[in-house]
Amino acid sequence: MEHIVVVGSGDGGTFTANLLASELGKEIRDGLVSLQLVGEHLEHPFQPGNLDIAFKGAAPRKYLRDESRLLRKGVEFLHDPAALIDFRQRMVSTKGGKILPFDHLVIATGAVADPTIIPGLAQGALNFHTGPEDSSKIWKALQDFKEGTVVVAIASAPHKCPPSPNEAAFMLDEFFRKKGIREKVRIRFLTPYPRAYPAERVSEVVAPMFDEKGIEVTTFFNVDKVDPEHKKITSMEGESFDYDLLIAIPPHHGADVVVRSGIGDSDGYVPTDKGTMKVLGQPGVYAIGDATNIPVSKSGVVAHLQSVVVAHNIVNEARGTHDELAYNGRINCPMEVGAHRAIFVSATYASPPEDQSPSTIKYIEKRSFAMIYWRALNGSLERVFDMFFGPTRFPVEELQEAKTA
Ligand SMILES: Cc1cc2nc3c(=O)[nH]c(=O)nc-3n(C[C@H](O)[C@H](O)[C@H](O)COP(=O)(O)OP(=O)(O)OC[C@H]3O[C@@H](n4cnc5c(N)ncnc54)[C@H](O)[C@@H]3O)c2cc1C
Repeated sequence: MEHIVVVGSGDGGTFTANLLASELGKEIRDGLVSLQLVGEHLEHPFQPGNLDIAFKGAAPRKYLRDESRLLRKGVEFLHDPAALIDFRQRMVSTKGGKILPFDHLVIATGAVADPTIIPGLAQGALNFHTGPEDSSKIWKALQDFKEGTVVVAIASAPHKCPPSPNEAAFMLDEFFRKKGIREKVRIRFLTPYPRAYPAERVSEVVAPMFDEKGIEVTTFFNVDKVDPEHKKITSMEGESFDYDLLIAIPPHHGADVVVRSGIGDSDGYVPTDKGTMKVLGQPGVYAIGDATNIPVSKSGVVAHLQSVVVAHNIVNEARGTHDELAYNGRINCPMEVGAHRAIFVSATYASPPEDQSPSTIKYIEKRSFAMIYWRALNGSLERVFDMFFGPTRFPVEELQEAKTA
C-alpha cells in the first residue's frame, strides 16, 4: 500500500487532500493507497474574512466551517497535531502518539504570525493576522475611537497577504469617513519597504490614492520596539511615532513542527523547489503555500495553485507515469481601496506585477471569493479558476529545457 500523508488542514492541505481523494478514489477504495490529513483544528477559517471582522464588524464565527464537512470521501482526517516530521525514517509522529509512515508527504503547515517577537508589540498593538477573535478586538476599539492617531505598521516581511496592510489603511479611512470623524483622525502607515506597496508598479497606483485620502506613509520603518505605556512605536532606524491605536502586522515564521523537526531555514520555512514544489533533496516530499521558503506572496491563491501541481505530481509518482508539472509563480492578490473598488496584484515568476486601475468589477470578484472559497476547497471549481487565472502550470520538461538552454 502507498501511504500519502498531508500535514496541515488549512487552505492548501485541505485542497490537496481533496484533489488526491478525487483522483485516487479507486486506489483508496481498493486499499492500494491510504490518504491521511493531519490537522490541529476542527474548524477551518477563511482568513481573508479577518479584514471584514476587524473593519466592517462581521461576526468572528462567520468565516469558520467544520473541517470534516469540507473533506471528500477517502480522506482520513486526524485531529491530532504533528509533533515531528522525520525525513530519514520517512514518518510523521503526532502529539497523540501515532506514527504515520509515508511514501509521499505534503507539508502544508502555513506560517505563524507571532507578535511576541518584538518587545511591547503583543501588549501595545492589535492585529488581524492571529485569528477572528483578535480581529474582532480591532472592531471593538474602533467603536470607542473618537479622535487621535491610528498607526498601521508592518512589523516585518514576509507576512501573509502582502496587500492586507494597505487594505487595512483604506478600510480604516472608509470607516472614519462613514462615521463622520475622518478629519479628527490621523492615519499613519509605517512600512519597512521603500514605497507604499512593495511592488513598484502597484505602488504607483496605491501611493496617489493614499495621498488623496490623507494616509501618511513613512518608508524604511523597521519596527524595533513598542512602548505600550507611552503609546510609542520606534524603528531600528531610530524614528518614533506616538499612537492612540496601533494596528500591526506581526512578524511571521514557519510552523513550530517545522522548526522542531529541523527541516526549515532560519525562519522556519521549508526549502522548496519553486516549480515542482518538491522539498529540496527529499524524494516524494512536497511543501505548499505559506510553509515554503519560495519568494512568492504568502496567499491562499498561491497555496491553491501549488496544490494542483503537487496533487498531480503525487498521482504521477504513485502511478509511475511521467508527466510531472511545475508551478509558474502565478499570484493574484486583491486589495480593497474603498468606495466599493479594488485592485488585484497579479504576476508570475516571469512577469512582475502590472499597474492597473481600481474598479467595482474587481471589488465584486474579491467579494465573491468569500462565497466560493468553501466550494473551491473540494476542487469542483477548477475549470472556472483555469479560465480566470490563465496558465498556472507547465510540463516540467520545459523547466529542464530552460535550465540547459
Ligand atoms: C487578514 C488576512 C487576509 C488574507 N487575504 C487573502 C486574500 O485576499 N487572498 C489570498 O489569496 N490570501 C489571503 N490571505 C492569506 C491566506 O489566508 C493564506 O496565505 C493561506 O491560508 C495559506 O494557506 P496554507 O495552506 O499555506 O496555510 P494555512 O491555511 O494557514 O494552513 C496551515 C494549517 O497548518 C496547520 N498546522 C500548523 N502546524 C501543524 C501541526 N504541527 N500539525 C498539524 N497541522 C498544523 C494550521 O493549524 C493550519 O490549519 C490572507 C490572510 C490573512 C491573515
